[in-house]
Amino acid sequence: MQNPPPPGGPGYPYPPSPYAGGPPGYPPPPHGYPPPPPGYGVCPRCHSPHVRKPSWTWWGGFIGPSILNHWECQSCRYGFNPKTGRSTSGAIGIYFAVVMAIGIVLAVLLVAMRRF
Ligand SMILES: [Zn+2]
Repeated sequence: MQNPPPPGGPGYPYPPSPYAGGPPGYPPPPHGYPPPPPGYGVCPRCHSPHVRKPSWTWWGGFIGPSILNHWECQSCRYGFNPKTGRSTSGAIGIYFAVVMAIGIVLAVLLVAMRRF
């Protein structure tokens, strides 16, 4: 008796993903985690190793932090770009203004479309 071929066929070009079941230790514990890899891991203001990239922020939703490369210190709440070590507050202001402007334009368009 023969077993049926595995799903995807025997010639399936991709090896099974190592992340199929999630890498070990994922998701990371919220606190008490090991220090992040060097180069990214220190707050430029208070030198705390407890920095992380937030997955969501009030000003940028889910994509804002990725677009701006925004990281946050969990000790002093400093927001910074790990590549430059500079504060992201200026970039956040610009980003927020642009998002608000787009939102206002969309709202005006919606009102205009409803009227005609
Ligand atoms: Zn800090």
